[in-house]
Amino acid sequence: MRVDVFTIFPDIVDGFASFGLLGKAIERGVLDVRIHDLRSEAVDPHRSVDDSPYGGGAGMVLMPEPLFASVEAANPPRPLFLLGPAGRPLDHDVAVELAGLDGFSLLCGRYEGVDQRVREHLVDGELSIGDYVLAGGEVAAMVVLEAVGRLVPGVMGNDDSGAEESFATGLLEYPQYTRPASFRGWDVPEVLRSGDHGRIAEWRHAQALVQTVRARPDLVAARGGLTDGEQALLERLGLLP
Ligand code: SAH
Repeated sequence: MRVDVFTIFPDIVDGFASFGLLGKAIERGVLDVRIHDLRSEAVDPHRSVDDSPYGGGAGMVLMPEPLFASVEAANPPRPLFLLGPAGRPLDHDVAVELAGLDGFSLLCGRYEGVDQRVREHLVDGELSIGDYVLAGGEVAAMVVLEAVGRLVPGVMGNDDSGAEESFATGLLEYPQYTRPASFRGWDVPEVLRSGDHGRIAEWRHAQALVQTVRARPDLVAARGGLTDGEQALLERLGLLP
């Protein structure tokens, strides 16, 4: 999968993408992340990319010329998304959708945002990472890159490890434990050390249900509540909320 990112701070995104899961995926050639400096297409000697807003007001606005020129020079994979608070909210379903593409591109705004003509005539859509305002689209682009990247086949070491994670099943994940078996008197649940895979799977499913009912009842409601079988399971394990 190829992902192109357009930004005035290429080093931020480049540094981020070189670590961890993404870094390894890029090294192995599973992901092809290309970062473009919006300033490289600026036409004036100062390499300006921003100017003050027509109509007055605070701050600066990213100008259309360098943005159009950068995108046209790179001919990046489409769809090209502008990051911004007005965009479609990023969630697991959006991430799955993007992970199914051969590629897509991200345009990071800065200052007060981008000239409206970029929104209307250059990008194909907008993505938001939440109802708050960031200083720039770079962090948002990295969130999209990581959330989508880890769903691309071959990016995670063990291809199964995404299947049970939070949201993939419509539930939050069950609790995880590692060594030591006893830490400051807090013990790892006996069932996880039993070696009984049937019981472990059942316990994990029950715990995922309990975690989700407690922390995100909206997710449980969205999947139509608990099934009769799930109710019975929680009752049998003494976990009924
Ligand atoms: N004036 C704009 C905010 C500009 S913030 C407004 O009121 O809507 C500067 C840049 O940060 C934006 O162009 C966008 O690229 C990025 N950004 C800010 N909040 C974001 C969010 N919630 N999701 C994604 N990108 C965001």
